Amino acid sequence: MSFVITPSERVSVPVVGSADRFPVNRIYCVGRNYEEHAKEMGFTGREPPFFFLKPTDAIVAVEAGTMGSIPYPPLTNNLHHEIELVVAIGTGGKNIKAADAHKHIYGYAVGMDMTRRDLQTEAKKQGRPWCIGKGYDHSAPIGPITPAAQAGDVANAEISLQVGGKDRQRSNVSKLIWNIGETIEHLTQAWELQPGDLIYTGTPEGVAAVVSGDTMVGSVNGLVELRVKVA
Ligand code: MN
Repeated sequence: MSFVITPSERVSVPVVGSADRFPVNRIYCVGRNYEEHAKEMGFTGREPPFFFLKPTDAIVAVEAGTMGSIPYPPLTNNLHHEIELVVAIGTGGKNIKAADAHKHIYGYAVGMDMTRRDLQTEAKKQGRPWCIGKGYDHSAPIGPITPAAQAGDVANAEISLQVGGKDRQRSNVSKLIWNIGETIEHLTQAWELQPGDLIYTGTPEGVAAVVSGDTMVGSVNGLVELRVKVA
């Protein structure tokens, strides 16, 4: 097939222990999926999970052992970090039950759901979509994907983010309000998952601003660390 303009390159993420890469389809994100983060955003209680998407080319894939870089984005004075466990889907499906969700998971990675918080807050106030706050260019840094069999006990892994060597966020994946299986069950009632989809599963408490020159280090035990500098 030929195209009338040059098609953009396929977005992909490195895979631990392989020269081959993981091709990215859609990027789903879960909102308010840790209780203490829901509280810091002004919410309480267990509400059904809700989702938003980022454009696929918002991915900034960072190789193992290297420092990624994101530009400080335009239109904001309050760029926030959100450390998240990312689930990479290998086998698609709809109406997947939580108990079967593991069969659809290729692997896991450390991701950051970077957020122009001031724009998101304004969008919430106005009842407008979150795209400008959440789905902007370079808003989805991600480290290499570790295949599920090598990732260890991700469901009980410590998750943390440091800025300039100091702890900003520290929690445990076991504190997810909706665990990975339940998240996939809810998600696939609304959308049919496809191979290559990524799910950013939500962030724990401690979200805060970064400025140009800051270095963020994100970790989930058992996965490859994600280091990103704000240019
Ligand atoms: Mn998030």
